[in-house]
Amino acid sequence: MTNELLINLSYVAAAVLFIFGLKMLGSPATARNGNLISAVGMLIAIVVTLLDHSIVDFRWIVVGLVVGGMIGAFAARLVAMTAMPEMVALFNGFGGIASLFVGWAALHSAGNTTFTITTIFLSILIGGLTFTGSLIAWGKLNEVIPGRPYIFAGQRIVNSLLLLAIIATGVMFCLEPSNANYLYLLIGLAFLFGVMAVIPIGGADMPVVISLLNSYSGLAACAAGFAINNNILIVAGSLVGATGIILTNIMCKAMNRSLANVLFSGFGAVKTTLAQVEGEVKPITTEDAYYILEAASNVVVVPGYGMAVAQAQHVVKELQELLEKNSAEVSYAIHPVAGRMPGHMNVLLAEADVPYDLLIEMDDINPRMELMDVAIVIGANDVVNPAAREMEDSPIYGMPIINVDYAKTVFVLKRSMAAGFAGVDNPLFFRENTRMLFGDAKESIGQLVREFS
Ligand code: NDP
Repeated sequence: MTNELLINLSYVAAAVLFIFGLKMLGSPATARNGNLISAVGMLIAIVVTLLDHSIVDFRWIVVGLVVGGMIGAFAARLVAMTAMPEMVALFNGFGGIASLFVGWAALHSAGNTTFTITTIFLSILIGGLTFTGSLIAWGKLNEVIPGRPYIFAGQRIVNSLLLLAIIATGVMFCLEPSNANYLYLLIGLAFLFGVMAVIPIGGADMPVVISLLNSYSGLAACAAGFAINNNILIVAGSLVGATGIILTNIMCKAMNRSLANVLFSGFGAVKTTLAQVEGEVKPITTEDAYYILEAASNVVVVPGYGMAVAQAQHVVKELQELLEKNSAEVSYAIHPVAGRMPGHMNVLLAEADVPYDLLIEMDDINPRMELMDVAIVIGANDVVNPAAREMEDSPIYGMPIINVDYAKTVFVLKRSMAAGFAGVDNPLFFRENTRMLFGDAKESIGQLVREFS
């Protein structure tokens, strides 16, 4: 077998592993293995590329794998579950800057055609804006910079001029790629564009932006793949580009917002209070909550961001087992944007070994909500806010929600009357059938578990 054939076969194997890995990420039951399979695909792709082009010898490859692997393993172990979006933002940013460097390096290889120069331009432009855009997204989530939308007069004009400057520089760069001034100008403009595109977006929308930037990092890698004529980089880049945009779309749909609204509306600049909220708040003690749960035969748990903050998933699982022992049927209602990243609740519950078949998606659980004796809302707020269904003037009006208010009794576990992520009041807390169980979710559930046992 020739060397070339062997390399191409390895690339095909890597591509197959990527695709199967992605497919397996679609279900919590197979996601872990899917991740592993994709990682093996990436390992094959990297090692084969480095050996193929005699870029470095195997000793350097081993050193790189050990050092990189250790940094990755430490970072993954140390990151808090609630800080995952920030970590993904950094991954995207590094992906973007890597593509920029690949494009830049390709500029120095001989025999570049107009097509290759154009792909180099794209990898530098998209890679550069992904890099700075991701850093701003990271900063906003981390609150290193203020999360509120940064909007100034004439912003759109400035951005349009910036875009024109990028196009003009791009044309000059493609015509005269050996002129380093155009290259530096292009890199500078790409960096600036990334910053300008993300600063007007509020911290609340950062997860969507991160998903979009993830898609961009894929496009940059794809362009870099064309620039250096590397098939596996093109394949991997396309997969990231496509999956990123699909995820962005899913998140927008789950919030009932268009992508344009997320990117340009400055959502979250003002806090909204609903004048029409009526009724009284009825707190409940864990002891009374226990008596109601003890008599319940159908219980649905609705987890949200607060469950991640409280790290309550393990005690929730304990409570589920005790309820089941008490002959109640327990299920978990999963909203597509509960928490701060897609799949956030699935990951948390999987960590506590909650059986996957108990996780029911929003559209499947809603028709059964009236049959539920108790809905236990654990640190969820926006995703169960009936204002999204009933109040046309609410900023979240139209967002699909889990209709917990249709259950016979609703327990809401949270620490205060504070609003959730979207910053809007929640009429659910004032409903006749709602009882507020104030306190840290882990402590409250822990007390319920003690009442049971
Ligand atoms: P929310 O942010 O609406 O509410 C979380 C609630 O948890 C808060 O009201 C808070 O109340 C409570 N909480 C915080 N810490 C604790 C604790 N230790 N114990 C008990 N309760 C606690 O979360 P949801 O999951 O309902 O909604 C997710 C929001 O994020 C939606 O607005 C969604 O659009 C948005 N979003 C989600 C994305 C995703 O991919 N998942 C992406 C982009 C946006 P209190 O402070 O009183 O305790």
